[in-house]
Amino acid sequence: MIPGVERAIPIAALSTLRVRGGTAQVATPQTVEQLRNWIEHCQQIGRPFRLLGRGSNTLIQTAPSLILRTTRLNRVEIQGDRVRAEAGVSLQRLIRQCQRQGLGGWEFLISVPGTVGGALVMNAGRGTRAPQECLGHFVESVTIWDGWVCRPLTAHDCAFHFRDSLFQRRNRVVLAATLRAIRRAPEEIEYRMHQRLRHIQRTQDCTHPNLGSVFRSGYRAAIGRCMSPVGGAAWSTRTPNWIVNPGGATAHAVWELIERTVEEHENRGFLPPIREIIIW
Ligand SMILES: Cc1cc2nc3c(=O)[nH]c(=O)nc-3n(C[C@H](O)[C@H](O)[C@H](O)COP(=O)(O)OP(=O)(O)OC[C@H]3O[C@@H](n4cnc5c(N)ncnc54)[C@H](O)[C@@H]3O)c2cc1C
Repeated sequence: MIPGVERAIPIAALSTLRVRGGTAQVATPQTVEQLRNWIEHCQQIGRPFRLLGRGSNTLIQTAPSLILRTTRLNRVEIQGDRVRAEAGVSLQRLIRQCQRQGLGGWEFLISVPGTVGGALVMNAGRGTRAPQECLGHFVESVTIWDGWVCRPLTAHDCAFHFRDSLFQRRNRVVLAATLRAIRRAPEEIEYRMHQRLRHIQRTQDCTHPNLGSVFRSGYRAAIGRCMSPVGGAAWSTRTPNWIVNPGGATAHAVWELIERTVEEHENRGFLPPIREIIIW
């Protein structure tokens, strides 16, 4: 359909959980205009597609007909304290590039292996209790493609809530965002990044592929600890609320483990936990 650019890529390579599976058809646009043209083309011929960033919050059980991966939409423009980043910019690169110019505030995202687009959809952040910090706090505007036109949304329009945004409920393509950074000395930003990474090293299970937190709320770690692994997928013994794939798990096994865990919450009289990860 998109000659020369569409490729069959193993599903394991498309998500940080690296689940075993077949391949998916993937096209990786180089420019925002190209992305828009391809989406319009898919719409005209009725071909289902989905957007993907780094796949660090997505479990791919059933691949759509076409995945449009944003990872090459990686332009960043800085003017004063305003930073315009395209959807595919890696959060880690954004933070480091801004740090050199004395712009930050979002150092708490240094450990998040996602893109700006994915992080806006998820309203990525840290902390479940106050003071919570999230990317949405820094948004001045988000440029979206709504299927008809390309238009800016204000932060208010984006309806950011805890690990939630308008984009999870409405089919909108995030093209770019303008973020308002906080001016700080580069050394201070560096120190804050370093502190965050040290905390991560102490608390997060970096030994096996994972998707970060599986549930956004209601998960009881004591229940997770009692759950047996399913087909290679297991609750991390180091980081509560993380499922790890030490090798060979399928997306179905991960899904099954999540379902059993939800069921176990209900069996023990708790409300079902609310899922954070996106399952296709
Ligand atoms: C080791 C690890 C640590 C993590 N730590 C954190 C953490 O501290 N805090 C936190 O909040 N999260 C964390 N996460 C989860 C995840 O990294 C974040 O949610 C991240 O922002 C997802 O970005 P992504 O590009 O990988 O999104 P993807 O997984 O690629 O996509 C997520 C969703 O957004 C959609 N999407 C992606 N790009 C676009 C676009 N341009 N337009 C429209 N829709 C789009 C996708 O279709 C999908 O539904 C962690 C994950 C891992 C693996």
